[in-house]
Order: sequence, then structure tokens, then C-alpha cells
Amino acid sequence: MSSSFFDDVNHYFDAARRYTDVPQGILEQIRACNAVYRMRFPVRQDDGSVVVVRGYRAEHSHHRLPTKGGIRYALDVSQNEVMALAALMTYKCAVVDVPFGGAKGGVCVDPRTESPSFLERVTRRYTSELIRKRFIGPDVDVPAPDVGTGEREMGWIADTYKAQGPDTLNWLACVTGKALAMHGVGGRREATGLGAVLALDLFLSEREDVKPLGLGTGIAGKRIIVSGLGKVGLHAALAAIERDAIVVGVSVSDGALYDEGGLDVESVLRHRTETGSLRGIAGAQFFADPDTILERPCDILIPAALEHQITSENASRLKTKLIVEAANGPITPEADSILRNAGVTIVPDIYANAGGVVVSYFEWIKNLSHISFERMTRRYQQIANNRLLDVITRLTGKPLPPEDAAVLSRAPNEIDFVRTALENTMAISYEKVREPWKRRSLPDLRTSAYLMSIESIANSYALDGIFP
Ligand code: NAD
Repeated sequence: MSSSFFDDVNHYFDAARRYTDVPQGILEQIRACNAVYRMRFPVRQDDGSVVVVRGYRAEHSHHRLPTKGGIRYALDVSQNEVMALAALMTYKCAVVDVPFGGAKGGVCVDPRTESPSFLERVTRRYTSELIRKRFIGPDVDVPAPDVGTGEREMGWIADTYKAQGPDTLNWLACVTGKALAMHGVGGRREATGLGAVLALDLFLSEREDVKPLGLGTGIAGKRIIVSGLGKVGLHAALAAIERDAIVVGVSVSDGALYDEGGLDVESVLRHRTETGSLRGIAGAQFFADPDTILERPCDILIPAALEHQITSENASRLKTKLIVEAANGPITPEADSILRNAGVTIVPDIYANAGGVVVSYFEWIKNLSHISFERMTRRYQQIANNRLLDVITRLTGKPLPPEDAAVLSRAPNEIDFVRTALENTMAISYEKVREPWKRRSLPDLRTSAYLMSIESIANSYALDGIFP
């Protein structure tokens, strides 16, 4: 009998707590889910009838404010699931040093079958509920996209908050993951998938860690399977291909593809949009059961769909040595232990998929400061670059070739700032996660990431004067 998702997160927490001397009471406070708002509300369907919709928002930790976490739309959303996902957000934010507590929301609707107008009414009504109970606000709790939601839903949330919320000046900062036209930030869309590949790259850069897996350093040439080609999985696959990896397998909810020679992920998705299925891609094997892809041979497996994809049922059949958890909670504790005993290394979710919340943090700052990251610096940087070009030309007596001059004179835009700041954050955090793993001989990167997270959160309680 498998445990609940929230139990799983607590299992990983408990595995790490034995390595710390943080007082028990503080550990219990960090582990507890502080608040859950369960709601039911009526929504009119397109035919005029009314249905009752179930929704949740869990705020796991208020050690830093606002709390932060996505909103999931799926029929099987439950209180336990949002509590687990909110807890993961708490630990994740601490791992990447983003000053938020953890939260998560969920609404029991199927975005694949409901009409946009119904989904808009659901989203606006859900937001009204959050406003009513103060479970949303730039300084309180800031949602973002998750499974089944995206820029469109975040736009409806922001607009509803503007109309009804108490904070008229900073309303845009009440939600992140908005479209650029809605004052989102460049680079948010790909941030989680890109962050997972940056995490992979960092792991693969340490010869000492890579060698026992029988792999060489660097992403180039590695055979990768991405399970779940949604917002996160797609951008993970594209970022891996951009770094010369070979994506040999992909899956979506209704099927999977495998091709030893590598898949063109963008044309695979185009094919699915046009035909409604992954079936029929020349040269690739099609599997109607998406879980089959998890058991195909590869160097690196990136689960990017849902929790509990890898369980004690299928763990021993996996044919990979390295797993990067782009999804939240894709591996159950039983499977985690089977994989560890089989010599598989796991780059854990609370570090590997933190790119989304890192860039959400940048979006929140942009919205609070009411200015884009490039506005005050871009022109100045361009002038400085051109001056440098003039000096080079004067000193060498000849102009640089036009391609080199173009590279040098190009001024950074918002997306450049966001990407480099994300890279920097992932690199600094990786050092902090890896260091205790090596120095204290902890069993794995997950335990190390939880330990680092627990100690960082405990430290913020200490700074607040709650314990010495
Ligand atoms: P999404 O709804 O955009 O995509 C989910 C994808 O998974 C879809 O393509 C769906 O077809 C596929 N899928 C569903 N069941 C599957 C199965 N059994 N096998 C293979 N594919 C399956 O969701 P998303 O935002 O990409 O989120 C994916 C995961 O990443 C979730 O665990 C989420 O909590 C986590 N995550 C998301 C973000 C974010 O910024 N969106 C940030 C951090 C973590």
C-alpha cells in the first residue's frame, strides 16, 4: 500500500532531519502545513446549468512572506496533493534562496475538456474566494502556473485581483507566470525546463560524480528521455537539444515515442497538434501506454509529468543511471530506495525544478518595482559597448569584422538578465546542495538538499528571534 504524497515529502524531510541539530520544535514547525483553505463554489456552465466546483489553497510555511506556489487544474486534485506540493515549494524556495514561503493551489476541473469560457468563470470565482479569505496578494500569497494552467489563467487571476483586491498599486505582483503583455517577465515560460537542464549540466560537470555512473562529463551526446512533454518537459527537451543532447524518447498523457537516432521535439509536437496523437512519426516506435517510455534505455531520464510516475512497481525496470526530477515528486520513497541501491543518481525536484520559482521571483520584483529589468541600463550598456568598439578600432588601426562587432555592441535585454541570473542561482545553489553530500557523506543529493533547506529555514526562524 503506497503512502500519500504529503507522507512521501515528510519521509524525505525525516531522512534529512537526523543530520541536523535544529531543535525538535522548530523542525516540527517547518514540517507542518500551516493553513489550508478548502472551498466549494457554484459556477454556471455554458448550457446555463450550475455545477459545484471544489478547490484548495495550501500555505505550508509562513517563515517568509509572501507564500508562493502554482495552481493545478486536474480532476484528481486533492487536499493531500496541494499540501505536498506546498511543502515542496517551501523547501525549494529555501534551496535556491528565494525569500518566499511555500504554497500550492488546486481546482478540480479538467482543462482538456472544459470550454475556455467555463474555465474563465472558474478561475475568476476561485480568485474571488482567495481574495475573500486573504489567500492571495503581493505580500500574502502569490500563485503561478502548474499542471493544467498557464499564462491565460494567470491573466484572469491578475485581472480579478485588480477589480476586487485591496492592493491597487501592486496588483500585478499578485500572481506570476503572466504573459509578457500582462507584465510577465521574459524567460518565465521556459524557466523550469531550462533550470532542470542547467541542474543536469552542473551535475555532469563533476567528473568525480559522473564517473561511477559510467557516463562522461557534459550534456553533449547524452541520450535523454523526457516523460511529459508539457510546459516543463518541452523546454527541458529543447534546452537539452540546444546543448547537443539527443532526445531519444518523449511522452504525453496518451502515448510515447522512442527513436534511438533522436527525435525532433518541435515537429513531434506539431504532429500531435495536427493529428491529435503522437502516432505516425516516421522511424519512431509509438507506445499507447506513456509509462512504457520510463523503461526504455537512456543515459538520463527526465520525468516531467506528474508525481508518482516511478514507483516500487517499475523502478527496477528502469534502464538509466541518472534521473533529473523536473516534475514534483515523480519518485516514491520506495522507488527512491530501489534506485539508490541500483546505483542510480537522482537530482531531486526541490533543486532540479526550482528554475520556475526563481524566475517567478524576478517577475514579482519587476511588478513591485514597476519597471523592466533593462529599462535603466540597456541604452547605457549599448553606448558603453560602442565606446569599447571605438577604442579597439583605434588601438588596432582597423575595424572588427562585422559579426564580432555585432556581438560586442549588442546590449543585454530583459531575457538576458533573467537567464544569466537563473544560471547564477542554479550554480550557487548546486554548490550548496553538493557540498554537504560530499563533505558529510550523506546518502544522496536529495537528503543533502533537504538538509540544506531545513537549516536555511531554521536560520530564518532564528533571525526572527524564535530560537537562539
Ligand atoms: P503541463 O500541464 O504543462 O504538462 C504536463 C504534461 O504531462 C502534459 O503534456 C501531459 O500530457 C503529460 N502527462 C500527463 N500524464 C502523463 C503520463 N502518465 N505520462 C507522460 N506524460 C503525461 O504541466 P507542467 O507545468 O509542465 O508541470 C509538469 C510537472 O512539473 C508537474 O509535476 C509540476 O508540478 C512540475 N512543475 C511545474 C512548474 C511550472 O513552472 N509549470 C514548476 C515546477 C514544477
